[in-house]
Amino acid sequence: MKTDPIYLQEPYETHMEGQILTVIADQPGVWRLILDRTVFYPMGGGQPTDQGKITFTDGTEADVFQVQLKDGEINHFVKMGREPQPGEQVKGSIDWDRRYKHMRLHSAGHVVDFALHLLGYSPNRLKPLKGDHGKKPVITYGGTIEEDFKAALQTKTDELLNKNLKFSWGFKPLEEIQKNAIYLQPGLPANKPLRALSLEGVGTVADGGTIVKSTEEIGKITITAIETKEGNTLIKYVIE
Ligand SMILES: [Zn+2]
Repeated sequence: MKTDPIYLQEPYETHMEGQILTVIADQPGVWRLILDRTVFYPMGGGQPTDQGKITFTDGTEADVFQVQLKDGEINHFVKMGREPQPGEQVKGSIDWDRRYKHMRLHSAGHVVDFALHLLGYSPNRLKPLKGDHGKKPVITYGGTIEEDFKAALQTKTDELLNKNLKFSWGFKPLEEIQKNAIYLQPGLPANKPLRALSLEGVGTVADGGTIVKSTEEIGKITITAIETKEGNTLIKYVIE
């Protein structure tokens, strides 16, 4: 990847200065920009895209309405009145309210996941498959459980939130994460350092989303439903 993804190390960074490396014409009036560095989180791993603005040295402003990983590169989709050029210096800023909400929702998903692990369900009886931390947050696990564990999961989740635990993160080689992680999702690249995400005193997983500093910032998590579908278990939640 040509772009330095600032959001992985510094999720509270809202502004950046950078340079356009590549411009790809998308639709009339829409271009995809690849930058040397970015604070914009590209849609993925269940976390929705960041949005925001890019400003040019001539004063042109462009709306960034979507950011996507395409062919291994972070593509910023922008609408603007003139054609942007490679080499141009730009300033970028994200819509922080939108990002912070998604960051809290994504972090909440991990708290629920850690709670399931502490209850002994994940990763063996329930195998973590994917999370969706957008408008209708849901975490999907392979396998089903006969007993009703919604109340137990709520209690364990509340317990973790009430302790106000710290999240920490850093890049580590795959072998090191393998030694410490609760589970590793299939298909992780072995040829580059992965970001490990830890919840204080609970455990570590491999993760590429944006995370808050401590569980206090999430507020309250409510488990709204636990459903089974085609051999999978869907855990739905909301935050306040
Ligand atoms: Zn995650």
